[in-house]
Amino acid sequence: MTLTRQTIVEGLTDLLGTERVITDAQVLKEYSHDRYKKYETIFGIYTTPIPAAVVRPKDTDQVSDVLTFLNENKINCVGRTGGTATEGGLETIVENSVVIDGSRMNKIIKIDEKNMLATTQCGVCLGELEDRLREQGLTTGHSPQSKPLAHMGGLVATRSIGQFSTLYGAIEDMVNGLEAVFPTGEITRIKNVPRRSCGPDIRHVIIGNEGAICFITEVTVKVYKYFPENNRFAAWALDDMSAGFDILREVMIEGYRPSVARLYDAQDGAQHSFDQFAPDQCVLMFMAEGNAHIANATAEGITDIVSKYDDCQPIEAKIIENWFNHLNWGPEKIAEERELIKKNKHIGFTTEVSGNWDCINTIYENALRRIQEEFPHMDDITMLGGHSSHSYQTGTNLYFVYDYDVKECKPEEEITKYHIPLNALIVEETLKAGGSMVHHHGIGKYRSGWTKEEHGSAYYILKGLKDQFDPNGIMNKGTIYPVEK
Ligand SMILES: Cc1cc2nc3c(=O)[nH]c(=O)nc-3n(C[C@H](O)[C@H](O)[C@H](O)COP(=O)(O)OP(=O)(O)OC[C@H]3O[C@@H](n4cnc5c(N)ncnc54)[C@H](O)[C@@H]3O)c2cc1C
Repeated sequence: MTLTRQTIVEGLTDLLGTERVITDAQVLKEYSHDRYKKYETIFGIYTTPIPAAVVRPKDTDQVSDVLTFLNENKINCVGRTGGTATEGGLETIVENSVVIDGSRMNKIIKIDEKNMLATTQCGVCLGELEDRLREQGLTTGHSPQSKPLAHMGGLVATRSIGQFSTLYGAIEDMVNGLEAVFPTGEITRIKNVPRRSCGPDIRHVIIGNEGAICFITEVTVKVYKYFPENNRFAAWALDDMSAGFDILREVMIEGYRPSVARLYDAQDGAQHSFDQFAPDQCVLMFMAEGNAHIANATAEGITDIVSKYDDCQPIEAKIIENWFNHLNWGPEKIAEERELIKKNKHIGFTTEVSGNWDCINTIYENALRRIQEEFPHMDDITMLGGHSSHSYQTGTNLYFVYDYDVKECKPEEEITKYHIPLNALIVEETLKAGGSMVHHHGIGKYRSGWTKEEHGSAYYILKGLKDQFDPNGIMNKGTIYPVEK
């Protein structure tokens, strides 16, 4: 029997008590979507089904009780922590969904300096953890732009990546152990050991699951010594992206691991005022960090490589360092941006993809060309460009950035008129060239239409996880896994 909104709320209240079951109408509306700047919501319009309740469990046992209840009654559940998702992962597309908000599970459980590990509940904000660690001369090395807002559970659930990834890796390289609850209420803990050869690495069933398989309750990450005094920045202006990709590749395959390795095209760079010192040019920048011997050797090695490329002109490192130190987004910056979007009816979005070195420039050129040739509202686009910000031995990512004036449509039509078709052109060109359609924001609901194409024959494995762990399909419907028509 399908439960009504009222009986769902009653059942949850019996489990958690009234103060942990939220039914305030405005909260429910705000928890029906994720895009922190979803255009329609800026105008007070909410078109996604409004959840029946938001629950705020205090511990893992309460998460287990809630999931057991939702699973027995086949109620769709959307996990949430920091609420900074960008790809629709938080949208409650099923009527009478329940949102499990883990943000009140916010204890830093242990900082273990001997084994260089930090353990937190899922609702600990990364910024808070980093502040605590830095007081002790430590860091996680994780620094996504959303660091002041995003929480450990969400960061693991989306396979997030930070600005220092070229040295420290992405979240999957940082996570040591985990605790998670599956839809049946089963609580599972993966222990903290440096490495093991005991079957497949089951952490990867949980990391990146986007709330579509289980709810993450506790995370243990590695920590590193923090040496900000040794940071060394270096930057150059150059004429084209293709040469920039070649330099990034050479730096990586020569074995250097700068923490930051970024390449901006002229259009994206101009948004950051790089045109003041590199007009109509691309900008390539690096930061070396860590122990002084390593940081200095890395900075010198990279300078040697770049000096072989004739068209690279050095940029004063201090300018880049100042810019870089103000990249993160806190709540004030987000509130200010929402006001500006409402006032100017002007909005910007991004689509991030990745590819090996042999196809990354093709993806860059073809996606931009296709948008220019095929996007029907090109006159409304005010900026179209991109950058690479995470490099690997085998390739790099591309972060396409596009801004537009929203013209002649209702706020709720913005997404279908602009964002969805622009996103689609980039994803299609990336898949065609052999790249991956999502580098770090997660598939969410906006890219789940391409999940099967992305994974090809390996979709068999991905689907097996859903069938095994969530046979009733209650976990974040439409996220990662496409809704079958
Ligand atoms: C201004 C801004 C800058 C950003 N910069 C970066 C960046 O540099 N790098 C990057 O990788 N991302 C970035 N993002 C995207 C976003 O911050 C990340 O995806 C982040 O990991 C989400 O964490 P969160 O706690 O906010 O998760 P939420 O937004 O709450 O949730 C994200 C997804 O994870 C699921 N989820 C959340 N908590 C859990 C849980 N406990 N268990 C299971 N599933 C869960 C949700 O259902 C949803 O699908 C940025 C976003 C913004 C708004």
